[in-house]
Amino acid sequence: MALTGLEIFKLLPKTNCKKCGMPTCLAFAMQLAQKRAKLDDCPDVSQEARNLLAAAAAPPMKLVKFGSADNQVQVGQETVLFRHEEKFHNPTVLAVTVSDKLAGPELKKRIEAINALQFERVGIKIGVKAIAVVNDSGSADTFAAAAAAVKEASPLALILCSDSADALEAALGKTTHATPLVGAASADTAEAMVKIAKDNKCPLIAKAESIEALADLSEKIAGAGVEDIVLSLDGLSLRDRLYNLTRMRVLGLKKVFRPLGYPVLSFVEDGEPERQAVAASLICKYSNIVVMDTTEPSVILPMLTVVMNVYTDPQKPVQVEPKIYTVGEPDENSPLMFTTNFSLTYYTVESDVEASRIASRILVVDTEGTSVLTAYSGDKLNEKVVTEAMSKHNVEALVKHRKLIIPGYVAVMSGKLEESTGWEVMVGPRESAMLPKYLQEVWQ
Ligand code: SF4
Repeated sequence: MALTGLEIFKLLPKTNCKKCGMPTCLAFAMQLAQKRAKLDDCPDVSQEARNLLAAAAAPPMKLVKFGSADNQVQVGQETVLFRHEEKFHNPTVLAVTVSDKLAGPELKKRIEAINALQFERVGIKIGVKAIAVVNDSGSADTFAAAAAAVKEASPLALILCSDSADALEAALGKTTHATPLVGAASADTAEAMVKIAKDNKCPLIAKAESIEALADLSEKIAGAGVEDIVLSLDGLSLRDRLYNLTRMRVLGLKKVFRPLGYPVLSFVEDGEPERQAVAASLICKYSNIVVMDTTEPSVILPMLTVVMNVYTDPQKPVQVEPKIYTVGEPDENSPLMFTTNFSLTYYTVESDVEASRIASRILVVDTEGTSVLTAYSGDKLNEKVVTEAMSKHNVEALVKHRKLIIPGYVAVMSGKLEESTGWEVMVGPRESAMLPKYLQEVWQ
């Protein structure tokens, strides 16, 4: 649990030597408690105090990494229950299953289909980041062969899922250097699974049917020397899973109950009806890894969109770089318009300009990631800002017609903009969807 300023003060040398830049040790302790100073700024703090402070300052949820260098993913280290309190740190990893009952061309086809689940949304690449190989066959050799085939054919991080320690050991023997997430260990198999995780330096999944059993199990596993643990609630209805996952997050973060301070993995069961709703609920509350059984892009993309939306920093709108973007191959007679650098606004405008089939330039003005109307009302978008952007990006050299199309919502700034630029200002449509018609009928 985080220490108060007074508790930290008791651990400091109390000499008020000022080497840390603070007038007193107490002032330094207060800064440290508010995370405005670093312990290293005090050169005289004892090692014992350093250890105590480091343990108290450790995040309430462990960060767990798996996958090898090129495809490593990380989950956990969340600090808040609701993203508006600060932000969520590590987006939920979406994984897709490969049953080890598949072999030959069927197995190859499944792996290729999962590899292809990569998309681009508002300029950001999103996609499935892990493959979960599932030991449905019950055979260690078959499981190992499937794991080897997945490692060979996929760049994604690996999750090895089997209740059998022998099967996991066989699969790890065929996937060296992959650093997969392995499991799941139950109370009965914990000892054998811990040995495998330690021998192979892999994070381990711990599964149980209740929070209490899960806490006991994670304590046992951590006590045996495995620090990187992922928790999984097994065999519960969706309602009970969501209820218990929420309790776990509250206990882990608010009470800093270390046995539950680990990321969580949830399966969306094979054939589960309404699986998108189930997966979306699990992403929101509070699964750090969600494993699905489908390779349908129409199911996966909405889930990735949910992850993207939930894990976007609420204090930082998604932005594109302010500069001139081209659509098609514009020349000096092509239209020039401006919009703001809020990603959603830019990509909407860009796709509507594309739909017009008229090569164009879009000047993206820096409005700190806000939309046209928001920027205008907050005075982040005015004739001065646009004029400066035009000058900075040297639009004079790009077009010879000296006409600028502006969003219809800020028609009110057209007069002042004409005065400050000397250009003809053409008021475009209010809605970007009308741009194709506007470009084809008004501009042409
Ligand atoms: Fe106190 Fe350390 Fe700062 Fe000196 S450097 S005033 S001992 S906290």
